[in-house]
Amino acid sequence: MAQVRTPLIAGNWKMNGLLGDGQARAEDLAGRMQGAGELGFEMLLCPPATLVGAVAAATQGSGLLLGGQDCHVNSNGAHTGDISAVMLADLGCSHVIVGHSERRADHGEADDLVRAKAAAGIEAGLIAIICAGETEAQRDAGQTNDVVAAQVRGSVPGGADATQIVIAYEPVWAIGTGSTPTEAEVQDVHAMIRATLADVSSDSTASDCRILYGGSVKPDNAAGLLALADVDGGLVGGASLVAADFWAIAAAAR
Ligand code: PEP
Repeated sequence: MAQVRTPLIAGNWKMNGLLGDGQARAEDLAGRMQGAGELGFEMLLCPPATLVGAVAAATQGSGLLLGGQDCHVNSNGAHTGDISAVMLADLGCSHVIVGHSERRADHGEADDLVRAKAAAGIEAGLIAIICAGETEAQRDAGQTNDVVAAQVRGSVPGGADATQIVIAYEPVWAIGTGSTPTEAEVQDVHAMIRATLADVSSDSTASDCRILYGGSVKPDNAAGLLALADVDGGLVGGASLVAADFWAIAAAAR
């Protein structure tokens, strides 16, 4: 039977938002969700940790999902400034992003650590959104598939199933730049990721796991990207900071 993968439209607010505008954006989106009827997609907000509690309160009962942008590998302890997956779950999160290229670059996070963070998220009952993507130099050198496959192999906890993980393919050179790969290139990489998941985990994980595309998704390119056979949603940065734009991207997934 053909697998139906419900599209996931995830907004990564990164280090943006204060209480006033974060709450207002969350309330705006919650109102749109409640007035929209049958959706056909899931919508996830990943605000900065400082806003998770306020966004949870602002979106309660709306059906909007809530996620963290990172987590520590431990559930508690002497880790000043860090946040655990258990803490995110306690605030009502259902998801956590791990291995975003900004964490890999800014904090030196490598695949082993990303895999441990994903496992910690799963252990806490969260769905781990595991990010992978090549740099511009790697793309120019024709290494995209090798780099992304290696990141997926190194970052996905062995045996994880499709209820526990989501993969986000995010070419580093496409993040925040307005550039994207062609639709054919995105489809090729997503199909390769799906085949890699069969090796790392199982055939059912490969067929059922949602693979999101991220990198300069905007209202005007969302429909084409989200219609690709192996694209099951988007991880959206900049455009998720404007409620109307984020909603327009999600509407393209219906
Ligand atoms: C991101 O950082 O996850 C992202 C995809 O950013 P943007 O949509 O701004 O390119």
